[in-house]
Amino acid sequence: MQKGKRTPIATLGEFGLIDHLTEGIELKNPSSLYGIGDDAAVLHYPDKEMLVTTDLLMEGVHFNLVYYDLKLLGYKAATVNISDIYAMNGKPLQMTISLAVSKRFCIEDMEQLYAGMRMACEEHGVDIVGGDTTSSLTGLAISITCIGEADKDKIVYRNGAKDTNLICVSGDLGAAYMGLQLLERENAVFKGEKDIEPDFSGKEYLLQRQLKPDARGDIIKKLAEAGVQPTAMMDISDGLSSELIHICKQSNVGCRVYEDRIPIDYQTAVMAEEMNMNVTTCALNGGEDYELLFTVPITDHDKIEDIEGIKLIGHITRPELGYALVTRDDKEFELKAQGWNALTEEK
Ligand code: ADP
Ligand code: MG
Repeated sequence: MQKGKRTPIATLGEFGLIDHLTEGIELKNPSSLYGIGDDAAVLHYPDKEMLVTTDLLMEGVHFNLVYYDLKLLGYKAATVNISDIYAMNGKPLQMTISLAVSKRFCIEDMEQLYAGMRMACEEHGVDIVGGDTTSSLTGLAISITCIGEADKDKIVYRNGAKDTNLICVSGDLGAAYMGLQLLERENAVFKGEKDIEPDFSGKEYLLQRQLKPDARGDIIKKLAEAGVQPTAMMDISDGLSSELIHICKQSNVGCRVYEDRIPIDYQTAVMAEEMNMNVTTCALNGGEDYELLFTVPITDHDKIEDIEGIKLIGHITRPELGYALVTRDDKEFELKAQGWNALTEEK
């Protein structure tokens, strides 16, 4: 939390706080007709489909203020919602932000939180059009709703994957999970629980991936420019295995993924080795990468190969073939949806 000057929220009161935090917000999108200041915002979507997604984040459950400064937390909270709109192949345009704030927080803390959220919104062209502010007896709760648009025939659901489709992911996987491991390790050092020197050097990428994730609007744009319409898509918040199984179940298909094709950053591999963990397990089950996982018709193979930042990791199969992972030494395993909680227990 903010050090230095700490002004109690009570000095502004609820309305004063809202005014203060939302000061200078200008609406940029033509679909944002009216934003903050009335009983409801007014949006104008005459000939597009509207996409709506919500997330609720609770202190102590979804975030821990030992690691996150409030600006990064705000940035991440907004980013993960924006990512959900991209995962439908949509364009994020508006956001509402609701907060429950306990007395522990001061005005400067909320300024930081809003600075982060406003930064993410600016990067993706999203207008903040409203929200709600209330007090909390326990910790901080943040509920964000992001609204976006898409042409009806461009929306990509999770249920459209077909046999022989190629499976693609953007960026690299496992780094955010490794970043969390790193933070937990250094936190243990901080508390004097373990005898390890705190050391983030050479691991900046892992921290960045955990603390300041990207929403991959750039990939959505590149796919559109290349004329590629994914058949199914979602963003990877819980880990590749579990998300891919979601797509397969909803599409009633199987999949075959090749271990040696899963994109892993060098720093992720180094950290996994240091922690004595299998890097593929981390990439398959570590969460919070917010990369895009999608399937495309095999006829788009060459177009996909030409797009930087996208990797082909396997293909969709008939449902009776199940969910297969082919290892580097050509053995076959069943992909399981462990999620990153299971990963922590396994360790
Ligand atoms: P109501 O009584 O109708 O809930 P409020 O007094 O809570 O209205 O809110 C006044 C205006 O400020 C509304 O337009 C609302 O959307 C906006 N607002 C309230 N809290 C926030 C917030 N945390 N972030 C952005 N806008 C907010
Ligand atoms: Mg209200």
